[in-house]
Amino acid sequence: MQSLHANNGDRKTVNYRDILQNIRLAFPQPTSDPIHDSYFVHSIMRALDQVDALKTHLPMLGSIVSGDFEKARQTALPDTMSSVEDVTAELIGYLQGMTIFGHPRTQQNVIPPTTIPSVIGVLIASLYNPNIAWDEYSHLVALAEVEVVGMTAKMVGYDTEKASGVFTFGGTGTTLYGVKLGLEKACPGTMQNGTPEEAVVFVSDAGHYCATNIVGWLGMGTNNLVTIPTTHDNEIDLAQLEQATREALINGKKIAAIIATLGTTDAFGLDDLESIVALRDRLVDEFQLDYCPHIHADAVIGWSWSVFNNYDVEENPLGFRPRTVRALAGACRRIRHLSLADSVGIDFHKTGFTPYISSLVLVKNQEDLNLVKRHPEQMPYLYHFGEHRPGMYTLETSRAGTGPLAALANLRLFGEQGLRVILGHIVEMTQLLREHLEGHAGTTVLNRDNFGTVTLFRAYPEGVDTFSIKRQEFEDAAYRESLIAHNAYNREIFQYVHSEAMEGRGVVISTTDCYRHTAYGEPIVALKSYILSPFVDEADVKTVVDKVLEARAEVAGNSTGATG
Ligand SMILES: *Cc1c(COP(=O)(O)O)cnc(C)c1O
Repeated sequence: MQSLHANNGDRKTVNYRDILQNIRLAFPQPTSDPIHDSYFVHSIMRALDQVDALKTHLPMLGSIVSGDFEKARQTALPDTMSSVEDVTAELIGYLQGMTIFGHPRTQQNVIPPTTIPSVIGVLIASLYNPNIAWDEYSHLVALAEVEVVGMTAKMVGYDTEKASGVFTFGGTGTTLYGVKLGLEKACPGTMQNGTPEEAVVFVSDAGHYCATNIVGWLGMGTNNLVTIPTTHDNEIDLAQLEQATREALINGKKIAAIIATLGTTDAFGLDDLESIVALRDRLVDEFQLDYCPHIHADAVIGWSWSVFNNYDVEENPLGFRPRTVRALAGACRRIRHLSLADSVGIDFHKTGFTPYISSLVLVKNQEDLNLVKRHPEQMPYLYHFGEHRPGMYTLETSRAGTGPLAALANLRLFGEQGLRVILGHIVEMTQLLREHLEGHAGTTVLNRDNFGTVTLFRAYPEGVDTFSIKRQEFEDAAYRESLIAHNAYNREIFQYVHSEAMEGRGVVISTTDCYRHTAYGEPIVALKSYILSPFVDEADVKTVVDKVLEARAEVAGNSTGATG
């Protein structure tokens, strides 16, 4: 130990072997060493103790400190080694101010709390570092990926004989795969020749912005992304989709992909996949297309609802409230058609309660993956043997085993029944929240016909008729001033509710600057509650409403800006 602290200024030399000794202690031991294992476990326990010390009744760890990003840029590599203990303590410091996503008073966004088995999945995959590019480097961890593919393919209704899939770098990656496969189908040879200018992609205006990114990064160009308006339930407008796709074909364009969003991020809008597929099939016939436009279902949020596809809503064996059952059935009405899509994106790190990153793209026909396969000669140092080599067609080279093991852990932990219970509960809490919000004259739910766990709502000042104002402000340009004033009003409400929550009074919710645009093009500001914690219970949703009502009284007292 002494030599570690040798000071270069004194021109002392150190024997590197002394330091190497410490380095070896910082690794798990390669052969059995129970004493060192205890040291490892103890290190983790001490880390957990330090996290625990940051917990209060507040929905965050410690207190919120703002990071000095300017100073952070000046950080340099330390001269000498540190210890496991010191580094651990320093790392825990970075959790300061983190939202506790599992806290019953957190309803902030589509970020789930993570289960213990999924964390252990990440831990063991990190410990032994399998690379699932190739079974030679990952052995049975590669099998875990295939098992998750099998389970989820069955869940969404794919034929598991034909389906396949790979984990990738996020929900964005899953859509990237869908669009890339579709591009190869519509314009064969883009892998070799580059992307032609006539390829277009369709997505709804409530779809995720990753679509823009994807067509940009794929070289198709953002000008070739066609955004289709949504109906008031945040579903793609089928008539407009039909018109736009026809127009594209008439103009000699190729449809690389239609992205159907099943579970939009802000409102849980669900596109009518069945009708989109029927439209695609009609277009293939009518225009005698020599390719079949690829339909990718961005179900990174909605996939898990498929556990309710066979739920007996009449019997309701889990005893959900009637309103909850209706919401579950309302979602499944769309989710049950997922198997019609050519590929499906799934985020376990959203509605599967795993840590980031755990995202899977499923393809209905495994041959589709051949479209992006490379020749073995292009990868001379890999894939000479072994029987499972997804690295031949994945975008990534190295792929971690963390995502698949975390996903597998939760699918095994919950099973169908557990997933039904956790999702059913958070849907139940969401419905309860809406019941409360609808029970007050001053608040109104915006995405009433979307049946997920996200609720967009607005508060209005005393004296405003919330029954008529919603529609008036949405549709009638004469209400532009009113809409803008109430946007500002809702921002004030949010500020109040947020600062109260930071003081431990109330619930952390969020807000969106643009729930959607009005018919005359103004963004609609909304308050947003996203319930994903199994710890949320009735009192917590009631608190949201109480706080909003309190904020109304507060804002009315302070402000003359927003008027009815
Ligand atoms: C979150 C989200 C994405 C992006 O997924 P990441 O895992 O964050 O890359 C794509 N689509 C939808 C609908 C999403 O909600």
